[in-house]
Amino acid sequence: MFHRDLPGAERLSGGLCIRMDARGCIAPARDGGFLEHVESWPEGAQPLGFWHDQPVAVLAEQGHRDWPSARQWLGELGESHFMLLSTALQVVTWQRDHRFCGRCASPMRRIAGEFAMHCDTCGHRDYPRISPCIITLVTHGEDLLLARSPRFPPGRYSTLAGFIEPGEAAEDAVRREVHEEVGLSIGRIAYFRSQSWPFPHSLMLGFFAEAASRRIRIDGVEIADAAWFTPRRLPQLPPPYSISRALIEAHLQGVRAG
Ligand SMILES: [Zn+2]
Repeated sequence: MFHRDLPGAERLSGGLCIRMDARGCIAPARDGGFLEHVESWPEGAQPLGFWHDQPVAVLAEQGHRDWPSARQWLGELGESHFMLLSTALQVVTWQRDHRFCGRCASPMRRIAGEFAMHCDTCGHRDYPRISPCIITLVTHGEDLLLARSPRFPPGRYSTLAGFIEPGEAAEDAVRREVHEEVGLSIGRIAYFRSQSWPFPHSLMLGFFAEAASRRIRIDGVEIADAAWFTPRRLPQLPPPYSISRALIEAHLQGVRAG
C-alpha cells in the first residue's frame, strides 16, 4: 500500500529505492521485485512517501537494456503497485523536463517538502505537469464501440481517449474526440471515475457515452480500426490495471445484471 507523504519521507534518510531510467524501465531488486533496501538515499534520490510504512524514493539513473518496462512490471504485479509506480514515473519525468525555467531559461532549484521547482532569477515556479484526458466507452444498447490505435499490440482494442484542449470542458472533449475519431454523435454522457496514467503524465477522466447511431467512420490516423462488439464476442482487451478495462468491465457487469 502506497501512502503519499513527501515531507514525511524526506525527513528520513533511507528505506526503499526504485531505480528507473529515462525510458521508464526499472531495475530488478535482489528479491525479484523492484524495491531495493538502502541504508541511505543515493545522491539525487527523490523521496515519494511510504510503501507499507517504509519510506520509498525513486532514483533516475542510466538504465540497462535488460531492465523491464513499467508496463511489464505492472503486468506482473498488478493494480496494488499502480499508484506507487505511477507516482515514481511521473516524478522522474518531471525532474528531467523541468531543469531549466521555461520563462527565463535559468537553472531551476528543487523546493523541499513539495514537488516544485523554483527559479531564483525570475521567481517562476514549476510543478509536475499533469495533462487531463478524457477516456470514454461508447455504447449502443449492450454493444461496445472499441478501437485500436496503430501503436497497440496486434489484436488489442480499447476505449477512445484524447487530450482536453485549452478552454474545453471534459464533456465537450468527449463529444469532440468521439466525433473526430469515429464520426459518431453522442447522446447521454455519464462520469465514471478517474485514473492517473503515467505514460507520460495524463489524468484520465473516464466517461460512459451513449451513441446516437451505429454508423462509424474511422479517421485512419489516431485510429487504425474501430468496431462494435457484443458482450459475448470481445477482442483482446487492455490490461486489468487500466481505467479503460475498468470501464469495459463495469459495462459488462451492468449487462449481466440486466
Ligand atoms: Zn526564470
